[in-house]
Parts: sequence; C-alpha cells; structure tokens
Amino acid sequence: MTNTWQLESDKAHTDLEFGTSEYKACTHCQSAIEIVPLLSGNTLGGQLWSDGFLVADQMPEQELLGRCRHCNEIVCLTDLQPHPQQEGFADNNDNSYLSLTLTDYEKLLQQLGDIAEYYHAYLRIKFWQRSNDQRRQLDTRIPFTEQEQQNLQALLLLLDSEDASRLLKTEIYRQQGEFERAQRELSDPFDHRVSEVVVRLKQLVREKNRHLAMIFCGEPAGDSISACKAASNYRGTD
Ligand SMILES: [Zn+2]
Repeated sequence: MTNTWQLESDKAHTDLEFGTSEYKACTHCQSAIEIVPLLSGNTLGGQLWSDGFLVADQMPEQELLGRCRHCNEIVCLTDLQPHPQQEGFADNNDNSYLSLTLTDYEKLLQQLGDIAEYYHAYLRIKFWQRSNDQRRQLDTRIPFTEQEQQNLQALLLLLDSEDASRLLKTEIYRQQGEFERAQRELSDPFDHRVSEVVVRLKQLVREKNRHLAMIFCGEPAGDSISACKAASNYRGTD
C-alpha cells in the first residue's frame, strides 16, 4: 500500500536510480503513458510527516493513479497494458502522467462504488494527506472538516495489522484526540526500520498532542534526526 515508513530499508541510503522507461497504453485514448520505474532512492534531505506523507527529492513517489496528459482521463497506472510501440517516442513528446490533485481524490471518493476495492484505502490515504497539505503549509492546527472526519473513520476500517497500517491507525486516533487507542496501537513491537517513527508518535501521544507533526526533516538516520519544528516554513512540493 505504502512504503513511506520504510525509512531504513536496505535501499534507504542508496543513490537515486531509475530503470528504463516503460510505455503503457492509456485505457481511454490508447496514447502512450511513460512509467519510469524507481529502482532505488533515499530519504536524505527529505521531510516525513506524521500522516505518512514523505517529500524527498531522492525518493519520488510511486503513484497508483495518475492522469493521462493526452486525454485528461484518470488511469490506474499499475493496471495499464504495454503500449504496442515501445521505442521511437520523440524526446520532445511528453508522455509522462500528471499527478492527481485533492479535488481529483475528492471526486473519486464520491464514486467509490465504481472503483476496485484494492484502491479504496489508497484513495482515502491520499485524500487525507492532500487535505493535510494546507496544514503543512499554513497551520497544523486547522481543524478537520466533517468530510475529512468521515474519511478517517472509513479509513480506519480498511487498515490491516501491518506495521504501516498500524502507524496510520495510531495517527488517526491521535489526530482525533483518542490517545488511549493510539497508545494501544503502539504497544506491540514494530519492525526496527520504523523505530524513528514509533518513537516520535509515542512522544506526541504522551504529550496529548493531536496536531499534524513533522517526524523528521533532513537526515533521517540515527543521531542526526532533527525533529523539525519549522512546519510553518514548509511550502509544499507544488
Ligand atoms: Zn489518454
């Protein structure tokens, strides 16, 4: 679902490396959509937030859904079939896909009945994180709208017992002020690779802090973590 939290995986300190571009056929207009596989990367210099949102130049996000720039329709990037033509695309012809916006995710959540269940948790996480962008940029204390609350309640039901899901559940409980439940989610052991996140969430729960928080900015490994307080200086990735 998301490997955002795998901060210290084997690949976490390797150079950014992409595989050979693959060209897929848009399910709507059959035009080419270029997918560039990420082989390795690292989170050095990146920022990780308590809702799992990671922004790191050296670890570009691997999105599941995107928008075809030729016909402007939304496609499931992982389900696309290979384009019949794999070579000869002119270098100056941009076949990359466009990332979805908060409005896109909002609309998709209104049509969940038409979307495979596999994507539901992903869509709800993306809606949550995109909605939180205003908090990252302006003020982490901006209250949730009713729609955001409902989204989080629905997301809780979709999350399993994997580490990544348990961290998201912890964060949802925490952001809703349910600190005892948040603490319970944190009580069982986690994989050592997410220990930095667990330590920070435990601290926030202990402080009864319910606001979106930065887990780290800059160097994520070992002693050099700086739990950055400069949320107000952050201006997003757009
Ligand atoms: Zn298309």
